[in-house]
Amino acid sequence: MTDRAVRGAGRGTIREVRGAIGSREQSAAEICRETLDHIASINPQLNAFNTVIADRAMARAEAIDREPERWRDAPLAGVPIAVKDNLCTRGIRTTASSRMLEHYVPAYDATVVARLEQAGAIMVGKTNCDEFAMGSSNENSAFGPVRNPWALDRIPGGTSGGSAAAVAARLTPMALGSDTGGSIRQPAALCGVVGLKPTYGRVSRYGLIAHASSLDQIGPLTRTAYDAAVTLGVLAGADAADATSAADAVPDYTAALTGEVRGVRIGVPRALLEGIDAEVSAAIDAALAVLEARGAAIVDVDLPHARFATPVYYLVSTAEASSNLARYDGVRYGFRAKADTLRDMYARTRAEGFGPEVKRRIMLGTYVLSAGYYDAYYLKAQQVRTLILRDYDEAFAKVDVVAMPTSPTPAVKIGERVADPVQMYLMDIFTVSANLSGLPAISVPCGFTAAPGAPTLANQPPGDGRLPIGLQLMGRRFDEAALLRVADAYERDTEWSKQPPPLTIPNR
Ligand code: GLN
Repeated sequence: MTDRAVRGAGRGTIREVRGAIGSREQSAAEICRETLDHIASINPQLNAFNTVIADRAMARAEAIDREPERWRDAPLAGVPIAVKDNLCTRGIRTTASSRMLEHYVPAYDATVVARLEQAGAIMVGKTNCDEFAMGSSNENSAFGPVRNPWALDRIPGGTSGGSAAAVAARLTPMALGSDTGGSIRQPAALCGVVGLKPTYGRVSRYGLIAHASSLDQIGPLTRTAYDAAVTLGVLAGADAADATSAADAVPDYTAALTGEVRGVRIGVPRALLEGIDAEVSAAIDAALAVLEARGAAIVDVDLPHARFATPVYYLVSTAEASSNLARYDGVRYGFRAKADTLRDMYARTRAEGFGPEVKRRIMLGTYVLSAGYYDAYYLKAQQVRTLILRDYDEAFAKVDVVAMPTSPTPAVKIGERVADPVQMYLMDIFTVSANLSGLPAISVPCGFTAAPGAPTLANQPPGDGRLPIGLQLMGRRFDEAALLRVADAYERDTEWSKQPPPLTIPNR
């Protein structure tokens, strides 16, 4: 791997990029060039990008450099970003990693994309994901799996695996993901970065290719809580184009990052954590001890219905997906199969255009909504969804934040779970309830597995087979500020988020 003329900010966080541009140490164009070079050298191994838009990105960076006054106070001016390929980008192919949309070029931008560009961000490309954001490993992409920069034979997590791998490998300081059942937080955890799923309604979904509309939210993957706070400030707020977007005022999220967690009550659902991976469990306990030492109170909470979250999620999400995906019929969008009759055209388009997991979900969803089974499955699932939500309401009457692992295991090997969909679905046990209840949740790096043969978790150089572990924090509705504050305070006392994976080029 060669690297030419890297001065540093091209590997930096949002804060570092802004600092380098603000002090005129580096121009937006220089940083963008470093980013594009870095992607060119590393992405072939990661497969994190479906599309790279080098010329457009360079032109935007140069335009920002030409008008420093205009962009001086823009929060993301000159910051290279990547966008999950299920978010519409005007004039840029948007595939949802599906053959169905392989050549689809939207005529409009998702609201989040427009807001990031108005804030000065420079989009460099679209990231690989599971097809239509269905999966937990990024193995369901029509364009091949993404690889984990910590261990290339392992999954990066899904479905925003390309975004997580890109941020972990220092290709961009921020990448957007979408989270229907954990797709921002779980890949963030498995790649060792920060991932924030906002409260349902906090961020406009306009222009997000729908998976399950009552669960989908868009959010950032970053290296620090500060960068997540800056990005959320840009993304959040009402949008006339999304009737479910909330009108609540958007606070200054960075102002919440005081380092102060004294008196914060952190609830831990102990009963739910039985049987998880021993190293994950040890890392979570160690993280809670760090927060306790900073003055937070650790309290037991009971979430009696949380163990039903996975089956409830896979009933509700497949039902909604079967409806949302009805539009891909060969007439309105994307791929159309050749056929002699209209009926045959519909059938072949869907048979050839969708991958196996997407077809499985459509069949499951159609089944649970069918006249004979609606009451037994869909209706029952909605009722249990309400019980799960009530558990959290009760918990949040006692505590400010609920903590648990993001994923029950670290990253598994590519191919290890694909043959057994139920095993794959069970990876989502800790993430889906935030979507079912609409609550905000963040995943922050909280340690590593021991390297094979090594005795302890600590003091090992990177690149020796260690895998990242993530701590998940859930919060009250619209209280992203509390999550960011606790996450940032935790970062101040730990070094996990500063460690680069082996597959990157060190900063400076
Ligand atoms: N793993 C979950 C699923 O397959 C979550 C997906 C997501 O959040 N987009 O549905």
